[in-house]
Amino acid sequence: MEVKYWEPHVETASKKAIEKIQLKRLKYMIDYVYRRSPFYGRRFRELGLHPTDVKSLEDIRKFPFTTKDDLRKHGYPHGGEFLCVPREEVVCWHMSSGTTGVPILGGYTRRDYDTWMNLAARSYVCAGVKPGDVIMNIYGYGLFTGGLGLHESAFLVGATVIPWGTGRTQALIKALIDFKATVMTGTPSYQYYIATLVKEMGIDVEKDLNLRVTIPGAEMWTEKMRQRIEEWLGLKIRGGGARDIYGATELCGPGAGQECVYEKGFHFWVDHFLLEVVDPKTGEPVGPSEEGEMVFTHLVKEATPIVRYRLGDITVLDEEPCECGRKAFPRCLRVRARVDDVIHFKGVKIMPSMIQEVLLKHKEILEYQVIVDKTKLPYDFVVKVEVPKPEQTPLLLKKLLSEFKNSLFIEPKIEIVDPGSLPRYEGKSKRMIIKEEEAK
Ligand SMILES: [Zn+2]
Repeated sequence: MEVKYWEPHVETASKKAIEKIQLKRLKYMIDYVYRRSPFYGRRFRELGLHPTDVKSLEDIRKFPFTTKDDLRKHGYPHGGEFLCVPREEVVCWHMSSGTTGVPILGGYTRRDYDTWMNLAARSYVCAGVKPGDVIMNIYGYGLFTGGLGLHESAFLVGATVIPWGTGRTQALIKALIDFKATVMTGTPSYQYYIATLVKEMGIDVEKDLNLRVTIPGAEMWTEKMRQRIEEWLGLKIRGGGARDIYGATELCGPGAGQECVYEKGFHFWVDHFLLEVVDPKTGEPVGPSEEGEMVFTHLVKEATPIVRYRLGDITVLDEEPCECGRKAFPRCLRVRARVDDVIHFKGVKIMPSMIQEVLLKHKEILEYQVIVDKTKLPYDFVVKVEVPKPEQTPLLLKKLLSEFKNSLFIEPKIEIVDPGSLPRYEGKSKRMIIKEEEAK
């Protein structure tokens, strides 16, 4: 397996060397936000905390978490009380709307923007992208960070980028062929949709396509989906694969973490973001190889740095050294769910990834949708599955029911629906629909 680095001296540094950099940056950052961010200045003073309290990396745990609510209440507009530089020094704002209406912001100074592009370039190279590659960028451009994040960073790598965004999917497939695109970015759901169309259209993936690497991210996906994307787009034939990228508006955008050519979870770029994995209920650190919520602290950021931010993503950290040599950069074994998407059903914890694993094990299932109605007790749990040949259904139904029962301890209502009747996704999927009691 060919391993390349963007910043070899950093990426191959020892854990000890990276920890030294982290501590130096953490001390600087806590002092920086204490002095410059009205939000942190006030909060730290109220709690009797001072920048000199940071003597080791573990001392971060003395500081309080920052939540999405904090950002909504105190960070909008123009970064609100989180802004650490004069407003005129901010060159760009990104926003993610969420559901409550007040957007969560990510702001960049010129230097923040360059740092981001550098990290995204590091991620591209980590994924196996090379100079001369033709990148079809199908993340949305605009307020979503995906499109822009993987645009200019492609120039740094020496690749050509086609800023497709989303939509016109048939024309996109033609362009993939005509431009001999070797790399494709985009949500796993959109990549999967494209892969199913490529299969349906009878395109010879070996002769007509040139895709080697794809970079799916921005939503939960599983090994089963990876296998389909890799196989249906012929990525393995050309020695490549589908490699997970991680990002969030609050961090910087895509490129906060990237899976390498060994495809064993994404390396988190901890020289820029201090990472903790905590129990979502207690906030205490989880043990090695235990599942928990990702929490990060900016180590390099000028405009809107955040301390101990609860990302809401659930992962398992693998700190074993990776064969690629990035030994100081732990791997997150995928984002298994958002904290909010975990369903507690009859005393069992169910994550969207578990459902996808069960369903996509069956080659005949092309698309699915899960509807959980929490307004009813016990919850109404419906799984709709789309199969091309309905005559396969009695056997499939039997198998699915026993798999759900044995591996997830649930017995959902399973409905087989007509081919093409479920939605396809050009951005993030809405395969999980959770109906909640309306807030009073
Ligand atoms: Zn690796």
